[in-house]
Amino acid sequence: MDRPFETRGRTAVVATMHGKERVIIPALAPLGLAFLPCPAIDTDRFGTFTRDIRRAGSQRAALDAKARAGLAAAPGADYAVASEGAFGPHPAFPFIPSGFELVGLLERQSGAMIVGRYLSLDTNFRQAQASTIDEVEAFAQAIGFPSHAIVLMAGRDGPIIAKGVSDRSILISQAQAAIECGGSVWLEADMRANRNPQRMASISLAVQELLSTLTTRCPACDYPGWTPQTKDGRPCLWCENPTFESWIEVRQCGNCGHQAERCLDADRRAEPGLCLICNP
Ligand SMILES: [Zn+2]
Ligand SMILES: [Zn+2]
Repeated sequence: MDRPFETRGRTAVVATMHGKERVIIPALAPLGLAFLPCPAIDTDRFGTFTRDIRRAGSQRAALDAKARAGLAAAPGADYAVASEGAFGPHPAFPFIPSGFELVGLLERQSGAMIVGRYLSLDTNFRQAQASTIDEVEAFAQAIGFPSHAIVLMAGRDGPIIAKGVSDRSILISQAQAAIECGGSVWLEADMRANRNPQRMASISLAVQELLSTLTTRCPACDYPGWTPQTKDGRPCLWCENPTFESWIEVRQCGNCGHQAERCLDADRRAEPGLCLICNP
C-alpha cells in the first residue's frame, strides 16, 4: 500500500475552465506533482454563478463532481485538483458580503479528497438593480470595474444579456438598451475567476491551506491534515479561572483518530478583561 497522498513524482490535472491553473499549479509546486495539460472539461455544467445552470447539490458536492470529471478526462493522472467558490452574506455578519473558496485534491487510488478552505471578506460580490446610468456607473465603481468584469441581466432571474463585460462603452450601451426596454437592468459582479482578480487571490489562499494540510501529517498513520485547533481557557491573571483566551492546541487525525494536546505558552496568564468572573 502506498503512502496516502504521496504526491512526489506523481501526475495531476487541474479540472478548470476559468484559468485557475495559473494560481493553482505554481502554489502546489512544493508537492512535486507533474501537471498534465488541462483536459477540456466543461465545469459550467456543475453550475454557474449567474444561475443559468443551477448547482445540483452543495458546494462540496460540486467540488467532488469537478474533480472526478478531471480524473475521468485524464486517465494518466494520479490526482485531480478542483476548485469551487460560493458567495453570499457572511455567515456571522449578514450585511457583509463574503466568499468561501474550496480547493480539493482528489486521489485516484483511494478516492479520497483533501480540501483547503478560505473564507474571504475581500470580495467584490455584489448584485443590484439599476434604473439609471448613474446607478450603473456607481455599481461599476463599487466592484472595481473594469479590472473586474460585470454581468448584465434583464432581471434577477435572467435572461443574461452579457457576461464578462469589461469595456465601458459596451457596459453603458447594453445597460441603456435594457433600461429603455424593461425600465431597469440587473447587474452582478462577474465571479468567474478569470474575470475577477480578487477571487483569484482568494483561490490562491485556499490552495495555501490545502498545501499546509497535505504537508502536515499524523505521526501515527502518516495521513494528511494533522493541523491544530485551539481551545480557549487560559487561566486568569487574578483569579486563575478559565478565560476566553486560547490555551490548548488540539490535533486529531481524521483518518485514525490519533489525538494530541499541547498547552500554549503555559506560564502566561490571561488579562482579567477576558475573565467572566473578574470582568462580568
Ligand atoms: Zn479572573
Ligand atoms: Zn492518523
